[in-house]
Amino acid sequence: MNFELSEIQQQIQQTFKDFVDRRVMPNAQAIDENHEFPRELFKEVGDLGFFGMRYSEADGGTNMDIVSYTLAVIELSRGSLSLAAACTMQSLMATYFLNRLGDAEVKSYFSAALKGDMVGGICMTEPNAGSDLFGIQSKAQVLEDGFILEGQKTWVTSAPVADFFTVLAKTDTAEGLSIFFVPAKLEGVKVGKTIEKLGVRGSVTSEVFFDNVKLPKNYLLGKLGDGTKYLSEILAEIRIMTAALAIGVATAAYEDALQYAKARKQFGQPIYKFQAVKMKFAEMAVQLETSKLYTLYAASLSDNNKSRKKEAMIAKLYASECANSICDNASRVLASYGYANDYPLQRYLRDARFTLIGGGTSEILKINIAKELEQ
Ligand SMILES: Cc1cc2nc3c(=O)[nH]c(=O)nc-3n(C[C@H](O)[C@H](O)[C@H](O)COP(=O)(O)OP(=O)(O)OC[C@H]3O[C@@H](n4cnc5c(N)ncnc54)[C@H](O)[C@@H]3O)c2cc1C
Repeated sequence: MNFELSEIQQQIQQTFKDFVDRRVMPNAQAIDENHEFPRELFKEVGDLGFFGMRYSEADGGTNMDIVSYTLAVIELSRGSLSLAAACTMQSLMATYFLNRLGDAEVKSYFSAALKGDMVGGICMTEPNAGSDLFGIQSKAQVLEDGFILEGQKTWVTSAPVADFFTVLAKTDTAEGLSIFFVPAKLEGVKVGKTIEKLGVRGSVTSEVFFDNVKLPKNYLLGKLGDGTKYLSEILAEIRIMTAALAIGVATAAYEDALQYAKARKQFGQPIYKFQAVKMKFAEMAVQLETSKLYTLYAASLSDNNKSRKKEAMIAKLYASECANSICDNASRVLASYGYANDYPLQRYLRDARFTLIGGGTSEILKINIAKELEQ
């Protein structure tokens, strides 16, 4: 076993760390307060090559391993989980199917998205279908020359600013779900109002309506009914990525609290000197280090083409639960200042909740981990 990062992996980590310290940290509070998609920073992340890290050079990417990608996501999330959530969505779920299954026309959107010139969204969730993806009602009618899409999606990340969507829908001719490419400008595509939410407020989210939307044949991605098969190809990576998002925000909370505890004096000494406070840091450090190590382990299994389905779920479940515990403990260390809007800790606390939901809730992950153990 090798626990050392390669020189390239260290360089990538450092590049994103420097970018986040210089460009993201000073703007993170405003991104949250304005509830606004951080378009300028999103484009800068594109210029850094982040959106193409997981794609081959022939496809316009940089062909980086998942460990490197994970390190970059941790750094972005340390700066702003809003920005990191929007960027990870763009770099994986919003673009993967276009590249894997699209023709030249579809891939022209993919190329623009890799540079951050276009924004994509993935439409799976519906008002009555969240964890239960097979419960979706959106339907594409199969015609001779294409499809007619009808349906309603919700909680679509980046939808208010999106140029295109990847949509999961049923059809009358296939049993399973199918994947469709849908440019936002098509007639009948309507983006609903932005959902006001507790955290990741700069990662804008909304409903999307498809009303009698005519799609040409080439907008079906892959084969009819094979949607979940294609989705399963990236499920582990989605979970590793969500674990990385959790680790990033937890790192920010931990570092802020540590700095504060060493500077803040009560009863004549820094509060870090009190055993009750020190114990919190020991707990936080254990949770943070083990989350990081296990998530990088799951990522390295993936890089080495080893089975990692269970490990990716464990990483996501563990890192997201630990991140919420770390943010809670960090907030207690800052006490009233952890409750003040002028300090970022309240943002970390709110943002971290997202990692308990995206990529599968803790309950669903536990059920699926247990299923793996049965085999
Ligand atoms: C900020 C944000 C961004 C998002 N972005 C996107 C996006 O870009 N695209 C997209 O398609 N979706 C997106 N989602 C939606 C997300 O994927 C769903 O919220 C998630 O799948 C859970 O679905 P739900 O909220 O409907 O909860 P439900 O599935 O209704 O679950 C409610 C509760 O019941 C529990 N539960 C459900 N089924 C079971 C079971 N079988 N056994 C035990 N417990 C169960 C769950 O764990 C949960 O606690 C986003 C969500 C958020 C919060």
